[in-house]
Amino acid sequence: MDRAHTTSDQLYGAYIFDIDGTISLGETVLPSVPETIATLRSLGRRTIFLSNNTTRNVASYGARLTAFGIPTPPEDVVTASQVLVRYLGRELPGARLHVIGEPPLIEDLVAAGFVLSSRADEIDAVIASFDRTLVYSKLQLAFDAIRGGARFFATNADRYCPTVEGGQPDAAAVIAAIEACTGIACETIVGKPSALMVDYVLGRVGLPRHECIMIGDRLETDIEMANRAGMASALVLTGATSESTARDSLIRPTYLLRHLRDVLRIGSPTA
Ligand SMILES: [Mg+2]
Repeated sequence: MDRAHTTSDQLYGAYIFDIDGTISLGETVLPSVPETIATLRSLGRRTIFLSNNTTRNVASYGARLTAFGIPTPPEDVVTASQVLVRYLGRELPGARLHVIGEPPLIEDLVAAGFVLSSRADEIDAVIASFDRTLVYSKLQLAFDAIRGGARFFATNADRYCPTVEGGQPDAAAVIAAIEACTGIACETIVGKPSALMVDYVLGRVGLPRHECIMIGDRLETDIEMANRAGMASALVLTGATSESTARDSLIRPTYLLRHLRDVLRIGSPTA
Protein backbone atom coordinates (compact mmCIF):
# COMPACT_ATOMS: atom_id res chain seq x y z
CA MET A 1 0.00 0.00 0.00
CA ASP A 2 1.27 3.46 -0.86
CA ARG A 3 1.50 5.44 2.34
CA ALA A 4 4.30 7.71 1.24
CA HIS A 5 2.18 10.76 1.97
CA THR A 6 1.72 9.73 5.61
CA THR A 7 5.31 8.78 6.28
CA SER A 8 6.60 12.02 4.83
CA ASP A 9 4.45 14.39 6.82
CA GLN A 10 2.95 11.90 9.32
CA LEU A 11 -0.66 13.01 8.91
CA TYR A 12 -3.36 13.16 6.21
CA GLY A 13 -4.33 16.48 4.67
CA ALA A 14 -8.03 16.10 5.45
CA TYR A 15 -9.98 14.12 8.04
CA ILE A 16 -13.59 13.32 7.16
CA PHE A 17 -15.44 12.36 10.32
CA ASP A 18 -18.72 10.55 10.69
CA ILE A 19 -20.68 12.12 13.58
CA ASP A 20 -23.07 9.67 15.35
CA GLY A 21 -21.03 7.00 17.12
CA THR A 22 -17.74 8.63 16.12
CA ILE A 23 -17.84 12.18 17.52
CA SER A 24 -20.83 11.77 19.83
CA LEU A 25 -23.39 9.34 21.17
CA GLY A 26 -26.80 10.97 21.41
CA GLU A 27 -26.26 14.33 23.11
CA THR A 28 -22.89 13.39 24.62
CA VAL A 29 -19.51 14.09 23.03
CA LEU A 30 -17.17 11.10 23.25
CA PRO A 31 -14.05 11.36 25.45
CA SER A 32 -10.97 13.13 24.03
CA VAL A 33 -12.71 13.99 20.75
CA PRO A 34 -12.60 17.84 21.03
CA GLU A 35 -8.90 17.74 21.96
CA THR A 36 -8.13 15.44 19.03
CA ILE A 37 -9.92 17.67 16.51
CA ALA A 38 -8.21 20.75 17.97
CA THR A 39 -4.80 19.08 17.60
CA LEU A 40 -5.44 18.19 13.95
CA ARG A 41 -6.57 21.73 13.20
CA SER A 42 -3.56 23.24 14.99
CA LEU A 43 -1.37 21.16 12.67
CA GLY A 44 -3.12 22.70 9.66
CA ARG A 45 -5.23 19.67 8.78
CA ARG A 46 -8.70 20.06 7.27
CA THR A 47 -11.58 18.58 9.30
CA ILE A 48 -15.06 18.01 7.91
CA PHE A 49 -18.06 16.19 9.30
CA LEU A 50 -20.25 13.85 7.30
CA SER A 51 -23.52 12.31 8.41
CA ASN A 52 -26.25 10.21 6.86
CA ASN A 53 -28.57 11.60 9.53
CA THR A 54 -31.10 14.08 8.12
CA THR A 55 -32.87 14.91 11.38
CA ARG A 56 -30.65 17.98 11.80
CA ASN A 57 -29.59 20.53 9.19
CA VAL A 58 -25.98 21.63 8.77
CA ALA A 59 -26.47 24.78 10.88
CA SER A 60 -27.83 22.66 13.73
CA TYR A 61 -24.97 20.18 13.41
CA GLY A 62 -22.44 23.03 13.37
CA ALA A 63 -23.99 24.53 16.51
CA ARG A 64 -24.06 21.13 18.20
CA LEU A 65 -20.40 20.42 17.39
CA THR A 66 -19.51 23.91 18.62
CA ALA A 67 -21.40 23.23 21.89
CA PHE A 68 -19.39 20.01 22.23
CA GLY A 69 -16.21 22.12 22.19
CA ILE A 70 -15.50 21.60 18.48
CA PRO A 71 -16.11 25.05 16.90
CA THR A 72 -17.50 24.24 13.44
CA PRO A 73 -19.18 26.41 10.78
CA PRO A 74 -22.10 24.91 8.82
CA GLU A 75 -19.89 24.79 5.69
CA ASP A 76 -17.79 22.09 7.36
CA VAL A 77 -20.78 19.75 7.76
CA VAL A 78 -22.32 17.61 5.02
CA THR A 79 -25.44 15.50 5.53
CA ALA A 80 -27.31 13.22 3.15
CA SER A 81 -29.80 16.09 2.71
CA GLN A 82 -27.35 18.20 0.67
CA VAL A 83 -26.39 15.24 -1.45
CA LEU A 84 -30.05 14.45 -2.13
CA VAL A 85 -30.78 18.08 -3.01
CA ARG A 86 -27.96 18.12 -5.56
CA TYR A 87 -28.89 14.71 -6.97
CA LEU A 88 -32.59 15.53 -7.36
CA GLY A 89 -31.68 18.94 -8.78
CA ARG A 90 -30.09 17.05 -11.68
CA GLU A 91 -32.63 14.20 -11.95
CA LEU A 92 -35.94 15.94 -11.29
CA PRO A 93 -35.55 19.71 -10.85
CA GLY A 94 -38.59 21.32 -9.25
CA ALA A 95 -40.24 17.93 -8.68
CA ARG A 96 -43.31 17.39 -6.51
CA LEU A 97 -42.32 15.18 -3.60
CA HIS A 98 -43.73 13.08 -0.80
CA VAL A 99 -41.06 13.05 1.89
CA ILE A 100 -41.08 10.53 4.74
CA GLY A 101 -38.59 12.44 6.82
CA GLU A 102 -38.30 15.09 9.52
CA PRO A 103 -38.58 18.90 9.12
CA PRO A 104 -34.84 19.66 8.56
CA LEU A 105 -34.78 17.47 5.44
CA ILE A 106 -38.09 18.83 4.18
CA GLU A 107 -36.91 22.42 4.73
CA ASP A 108 -33.69 21.80 2.76
CA LEU A 109 -35.70 20.34 -0.15
CA VAL A 110 -38.26 23.15 -0.18
CA ALA A 111 -35.48 25.77 -0.01
CA ALA A 112 -33.97 24.15 -3.12
CA GLY A 113 -37.21 24.59 -5.09
CA PHE A 114 -38.90 21.24 -4.62
CA VAL A 115 -42.62 21.19 -3.88
CA LEU A 116 -44.41 19.00 -1.36
CA SER A 117 -47.59 17.28 -2.42
CA SER A 118 -50.13 15.09 -0.67
CA ARG A 119 -51.84 14.09 -3.93
CA ALA A 120 -50.64 10.69 -5.07
CA ASP A 121 -51.47 11.38 -8.72
CA GLU A 122 -49.17 14.42 -8.93
CA ILE A 123 -46.21 13.19 -6.88
CA ASP A 124 -43.07 12.78 -9.01
CA ALA A 125 -40.95 11.09 -6.35
CA VAL A 126 -41.17 9.57 -2.88
CA ILE A 127 -38.25 10.20 -0.51
CA ALA A 128 -37.57 7.76 2.35
CA SER A 129 -35.47 8.93 5.30
CA PHE A 130 -34.99 8.71 9.07
CA ASP A 131 -38.42 9.70 10.42
CA ARG A 132 -39.29 9.43 14.11
CA THR A 133 -42.78 10.70 13.27
CA LEU A 134 -43.60 7.89 10.85
CA VAL A 135 -47.35 7.12 10.75
CA TYR A 136 -49.51 4.89 8.57
CA SER A 137 -50.86 7.75 6.43
CA LYS A 138 -47.31 8.56 5.22
CA LEU A 139 -46.84 4.95 4.16
CA GLN A 140 -50.23 4.92 2.42
CA LEU A 141 -49.34 8.01 0.36
CA ALA A 142 -45.97 6.50 -0.60
CA PHE A 143 -47.73 3.32 -1.66
CA ASP A 144 -50.34 5.16 -3.74
CA ALA A 145 -47.78 7.47 -5.38
CA ILE A 146 -45.29 4.72 -6.31
CA ARG A 147 -48.06 2.48 -7.64
CA GLY A 148 -49.10 5.48 -9.73
CA GLY A 149 -45.63 5.80 -11.23
CA ALA A 150 -43.69 8.02 -8.82
CA ARG A 151 -39.94 7.39 -8.53
CA PHE A 152 -38.51 6.24 -5.20
CA PHE A 153 -35.30 7.57 -3.59
CA ALA A 154 -33.79 7.51 -0.11
CA THR A 155 -31.31 9.57 1.85
CA ASN A 156 -29.57 6.66 3.57
CA ALA A 157 -29.91 2.99 4.41
CA ASP A 158 -28.68 2.85 8.02
CA ARG A 159 -30.56 0.21 9.98
CA TYR A 160 -30.40 2.17 13.23
CA CYS A 161 -28.82 5.30 14.66
CA PRO A 162 -26.65 4.50 17.72
CA THR A 163 -27.63 6.28 20.95
CA VAL A 164 -26.60 6.07 24.60
CA GLU A 165 -29.61 3.79 25.19
CA GLY A 166 -28.83 1.54 22.23
CA GLY A 167 -30.32 2.96 19.05
CA GLN A 168 -33.26 4.29 17.04
CA PRO A 169 -34.70 2.63 13.90
CA ASP A 170 -33.30 4.58 10.92
CA ALA A 171 -34.15 4.97 7.24
CA ALA A 172 -33.59 1.28 6.39
CA ALA A 173 -36.86 0.56 8.20
CA VAL A 174 -38.73 3.13 6.10
CA ILE A 175 -37.22 1.89 2.82
CA ALA A 176 -38.06 -1.70 3.74
CA ALA A 177 -41.67 -0.84 4.59
CA ILE A 178 -42.21 0.87 1.23
CA GLU A 179 -40.42 -1.87 -0.73
CA ALA A 180 -42.41 -4.57 1.07
CA CYS A 181 -45.82 -3.16 0.20
CA THR A 182 -45.07 -1.89 -3.33
CA GLY A 183 -42.71 -4.63 -4.49
CA ILE A 184 -40.59 -1.84 -6.01
CA ALA A 185 -36.95 -1.36 -5.01
CA CYS A 186 -35.60 2.03 -4.01
CA GLU A 187 -33.92 3.53 -7.10
CA THR A 188 -31.03 5.45 -5.52
CA ILE A 189 -29.77 5.86 -1.95
CA VAL A 190 -27.56 8.95 -1.88
CA GLY A 191 -25.95 8.62 1.59
CA LYS A 192 -22.88 6.65 2.65
CA PRO A 193 -21.63 4.34 1.11
CA SER A 194 -22.79 5.95 -2.17
CA ALA A 195 -20.25 7.46 -4.56
CA LEU A 196 -22.61 10.47 -4.67
CA MET A 197 -21.82 11.20 -1.02
CA VAL A 198 -18.05 10.78 -1.26
CA ASP A 199 -17.86 12.84 -4.46
CA TYR A 200 -19.83 15.61 -2.75
CA VAL A 201 -17.61 15.73 0.32
CA LEU A 202 -14.37 15.49 -1.68
CA GLY A 203 -15.58 18.44 -3.74
CA ARG A 204 -16.10 20.36 -0.51
CA VAL A 205 -12.68 19.37 0.89
CA GLY A 206 -10.84 20.29 -2.30
CA LEU A 207 -8.01 17.77 -1.87
CA PRO A 208 -7.28 14.60 -3.87
CA ARG A 209 -8.70 11.47 -2.28
CA HIS A 210 -5.31 9.96 -1.45
CA GLU A 211 -4.73 12.90 0.91
CA CYS A 212 -8.01 12.24 2.76
CA ILE A 213 -9.08 9.70 5.36
CA MET A 214 -12.61 8.72 6.39
CA ILE A 215 -13.15 7.95 10.08
CA GLY A 216 -16.37 6.29 11.22
CA ASP A 217 -17.98 3.67 13.44
CA ARG A 218 -19.85 1.70 10.79
CA LEU A 219 -18.34 -0.80 8.36
CA GLU A 220 -21.12 -0.95 5.79
CA THR A 221 -21.38 2.85 5.39
CA ASP A 222 -18.26 4.78 6.44
CA ILE A 223 -15.65 2.14 5.68
CA GLU A 224 -17.35 0.67 2.61
CA MET A 225 -17.65 4.15 1.07
CA ALA A 226 -13.95 4.87 1.60
CA ASN A 227 -12.92 1.46 0.29
CA ARG A 228 -14.99 1.84 -2.88
CA ALA A 229 -13.57 5.32 -3.41
CA GLY A 230 -9.98 4.18 -2.96
CA MET A 231 -9.53 6.30 0.18
CA ALA A 232 -7.91 5.41 3.49
CA SER A 233 -10.34 4.59 6.30
CA ALA A 234 -10.32 4.19 10.06
CA LEU A 235 -12.97 2.31 12.03
CA VAL A 236 -13.51 3.52 15.61
CA LEU A 237 -15.02 1.11 18.12
CA THR A 238 -17.06 3.78 19.96
CA GLY A 239 -20.38 3.30 18.17
CA ALA A 240 -22.17 0.70 16.07
CA THR A 241 -19.34 -1.84 15.63
CA SER A 242 -17.79 -4.16 18.22
CA GLU A 243 -14.23 -5.40 17.91
CA SER A 244 -15.40 -8.97 17.20
CA THR A 245 -17.76 -7.77 14.44
CA ALA A 246 -14.90 -5.79 12.91
CA ARG A 247 -12.56 -8.78 13.03
CA ASP A 248 -15.15 -11.07 11.37
CA SER A 249 -16.25 -8.65 8.64
CA LEU A 250 -15.25 -8.88 4.99
CA ILE A 251 -15.25 -5.06 4.95
CA ARG A 252 -11.75 -4.12 6.11
CA PRO A 253 -10.76 -0.64 7.27
CA THR A 254 -7.23 0.61 6.67
CA TYR A 255 -6.95 1.18 10.44
CA LEU A 256 -8.84 -0.04 13.50
CA LEU A 257 -8.95 2.50 16.34
CA ARG A 258 -10.17 1.94 19.87
CA HIS A 259 -10.61 5.69 20.43
CA LEU A 260 -10.75 8.64 18.06
CA ARG A 261 -7.60 10.12 19.60
CA ASP A 262 -5.68 7.23 18.04
CA VAL A 263 -5.99 8.98 14.64
CA LEU A 264 -3.09 11.14 15.74
CA ARG A 265 -0.86 8.05 15.57
CA ILE A 266 -1.96 6.98 12.08
CA GLY A 267 0.83 7.24 9.58
CA SER A 268 3.41 7.83 12.27
CA PRO A 269 5.67 4.75 12.42
CA THR A 270 7.57 6.15 15.40
CA ALA A 271 4.49 6.71 17.61
MG1 LIG B 1 -21.90 6.60 12.77
